[in-house]
Amino acid sequence: MAIIDKLKHLNNEIPKGVKLIAVSKTHSVEKVKEAYDAGQRMFGENRVQELVSKHEQLPKDIEWHLIGHLQTNKVKYITPFVHLIHSVDSIKLLEEINKQGKNHNRQISVLLQIYIAQEESKFGFNEMELDDLLNSNQFKSLTHINFCGLMGMASFTDNKEQVRSEFKTLKSLFNRIKSKHFQEDQHFIEVSMGMSGDFQIGIEEGSTMVRIGSYIFS
Ligand SMILES: *Cc1c(COP(=O)(O)O)cnc(C)c1O
Repeated sequence: MAIIDKLKHLNNEIPKGVKLIAVSKTHSVEKVKEAYDAGQRMFGENRVQELVSKHEQLPKDIEWHLIGHLQTNKVKYITPFVHLIHSVDSIKLLEEINKQGKNHNRQISVLLQIYIAQEESKFGFNEMELDDLLNSNQFKSLTHINFCGLMGMASFTDNKEQVRSEFKTLKSLFNRIKSKHFQEDQHFIEVSMGMSGDFQIGIEEGSTMVRIGSYIFS
């Protein structure tokens, strides 16, 4: 199937309130252009260098999402233009993003990555770390960060019930955090969960953003 047909299929499948982030990592500028010409405007990359290079080469009305682990020393390259960073996983990183936001006189939108999978992973806050962060004084000093919600990746498994239960965990954590810390906040509304293999489950469990790569581009 051509990229345009896959996007059509996805857009039929995904409810209107759920945003489709086309994950173009490792795929050529030409392929991204093909998806762009089919009407897609939100793209996700997991590496800073590739994100910057594609941003330079492609139309300026694309919303660029960073979905992969971000090193503090690379934050400055994306702060001028990035639309949303999905993968914020430490206080140190938040402080650097805040600092670069100040430098560029820009509020930087982020999601906090939560560790929900069973397998060993280095990235993401657990529930206790998240609570500590949101109750800390540091959190209040992050004036140039726009907190938009949470992101998570389910375990890499064929067990759909396990994936479902991990997504449920993320959604209920979001609901708890929302009512405790962001009740009046118009921005804290996103739960980014679901990829090519599990986006239907993500949507059923309350995802507001799905990040789909291989289904579209491979
Ligand atoms: C690669 C990637 C995706 C997309 O995965 P596919 O299985 O190709 O759809 C989504 N989220 C993150 C964080 C990724 O690294």
